[in-house]
Amino acid sequence: MLTIDRVSKHFGGVYANRDVSMEVPDGELRGVIGPNGAGKSTLFNLVAGHLRPDSGSVSLDGRPLDRMPPHVRARHGVAIVFQGARLFPGMTVLENVMVGAHARTHGGLVAAVVRPPSQRRQERETRELAERCLARVGLEAAAQQPAAALPLGQQRRLQVARALAGQPRVLLLDEPASGLRAGERTDLTDLVRELNADGMTILLVEHDVGMVTSLAHRITVLDLGEVIADGTPAEVTTDPRVITAYLGA
Ligand code: ADP
Ligand code: MG
Repeated sequence: MLTIDRVSKHFGGVYANRDVSMEVPDGELRGVIGPNGAGKSTLFNLVAGHLRPDSGSVSLDGRPLDRMPPHVRARHGVAIVFQGARLFPGMTVLENVMVGAHARTHGGLVAAVVRPPSQRRQERETRELAERCLARVGLEAAAQQPAAALPLGQQRRLQVARALAGQPRVLLLDEPASGLRAGERTDLTDLVRELNADGMTILLVEHDVGMVTSLAHRITVLDLGEVIADGTPAEVTTDPRVITAYLGA
């Protein structure tokens, strides 16, 4: 269970998050929606540890994450695919995923590219893990291609594979479908649904409300940094406050 307890974060005079609380049980797919600037990305960064809250707490299975830097939270099972995340364009598809695996196991990029012989066995295990993650997102055939050569939809699936290489318990996806064509969007929706069906707890921020309502067990709606609704897709999409603030009357 991921517990977000009254987190607040301000930038200057703007409250990006104000007393945001959320409980996400294991196995849930939670949608997070709201207008631009509502605080969705800020919330994800607070959970993954890339921002520190002014107040409030985030915990996983009752263990507070607040004092942990991002790579330690990753080791405890929190993975994030950032909004507009970039790949390493000069690396192959497989190498991009291996960086994700190393981020958890051996302290990041330097360890991922410098390979002393003593680490060969670890290296092979990392490679095998990366290959499994690529297969999971349907990109095993592209393993040796340069990452930059992939179409955008496959690049997004590669981002997901890289996050999976950290073997997370909770996966945060921030607008993974933005800019994708309809077919790519359908493929990504199917992938997210399959990962959740396999047991992955997922928090999904998406601008495409149809995608979120088709996937999510529950949806939390943010507006101006505050939770204005929390419920099933049917409940939040018929909530008058949500319609006024976001969905448009
Ligand atoms: P969303 O992801 O819902 O579009 P964000 O979390 O990115 O919203 O932003 C919430 C608010 O916080 C916005 O008003 C935004 O301008 C502000 N904000 C976010 N990050 C920063 C930052 N690093 N510095 C200053 N203001 C920020
Ligand atoms: Mg955002």
